[in-house]
Formats: sequence, structure tokens, C-alpha cells
Amino acid sequence: MKGQEPIESLVYEFSRLPGIGRKSAERLTYYLLDEDEERVEALAQALIRAKTETKKCSSCYNYTDQDPCPICSNPHRDRTKICVVEQPKDVFVIEKTRKYHGLYHVLHGVVAPQKGLGVKDITIPELLTRLGEEDVEEVILATNPNQDGQTTALYLAQLIQPMGIRCTRISYGLPFGGGMEYYDSLTVGTAIENRVEIQGKTPEE
Ligand SMILES: [Zn+2]
Repeated sequence: MKGQEPIESLVYEFSRLPGIGRKSAERLTYYLLDEDEERVEALAQALIRAKTETKKCSSCYNYTDQDPCPICSNPHRDRTKICVVEQPKDVFVIEKTRKYHGLYHVLHGVVAPQKGLGVKDITIPELLTRLGEEDVEEVILATNPNQDGQTTALYLAQLIQPMGIRCTRISYGLPFGGGMEYYDSLTVGTAIENRVEIQGKTPEE
């Protein structure tokens, strides 16, 4: 519609975000148009700051504004354990449980040969380098309890076990198929405490 281009463009940008349909995008756009200019300015600044000031930790690859991140540089963390997760938001979920005091490694994805996603598309080479350089006794595979997460965990175990490092899988008290973010702190905390030994396997093509 003529005279509506800036509005249309904001609706379009919102509608590209996950979980936001056209209706919600319009609602957010009109809400912001009714807000004070200062509030909108603060939101725009927060968006830009989050994007420009956040980087990946050069050790664990979690998002952070300090490198190494506060977890990697905390002398009270147990450096003999590395918990491997798919996404930065999974670190947040596990930290909230207060049941885990080791380090992390964020893969930023999964191994899924049928989708063309291989080892080099995620931070597996970086994890293997870390394991070669650091004194790690246990790797806790906390990828999601779904097909891709399980394939990735089995594959990682196959790569890591020959290095003489114990591999465990966090055991979920919930049905197979979901992602970590759907579970509450208590469930995730129990799953970490009840982790089990895992035997490695090559992913099927
Ligand atoms: Zn880190």
C-alpha cells in the first residue's frame, strides 16, 4: 500500500523471525509505532549491541562479550569435564540447573549426513583439538534427544573414546524427539546427574 512502505518493511522483518507469523509481526509493528521514540531507539540500540558486541568464545564457542568467556575463565569450574551441546541456548538451560560445574563446548549444529551437514560444518575439529591439549577426563554428550542429536552424540563418542576419554550421554526422563529448551531445570538437572556411558557409532549415510 502506498505511504506504508516503512511499516510494511518492519512487518516483513518481524515475520522472518522464528515463531512469528504475519499477524504477530503486524501487532509488534503497530505496538512500536505507538511507543515513545526513546523506547524504540533503546530497542534498536540493544539489537545492534547484542549483534556487534557478542562473539564466540575462542575456547568453548559459546556467545560472549569477553574472550575467553566467564565460564572458561572461572578458576572454580571443573576443567576435567566438558559438556557438549548443540546451541548456546543449551548452555543457558544447563547453567540454570546448577547441577553442572564443568566446562562446555558448543557445536553450533549437528552432524546430519542426509542433510549434507558434516563434521566440518560444526565445531567438532575445534573440540578434538581442545581434547588433545587439555586434561579432560569426561565428555558429556548433551546434544538433543532427537535423531540428529543422537547421531551426533554416537559419532562424537566414536571419535573421542580412542583418545582414552570417558564419554557419557545425558539421560532424559522424557520421550525422544524434542530439544533441550522444552525441558525444565529439574528435568535437565536430573538428566545430567543420571548420565550413562555411551558407545560410539559411525553415522549412516
Ligand atoms: Zn568459553
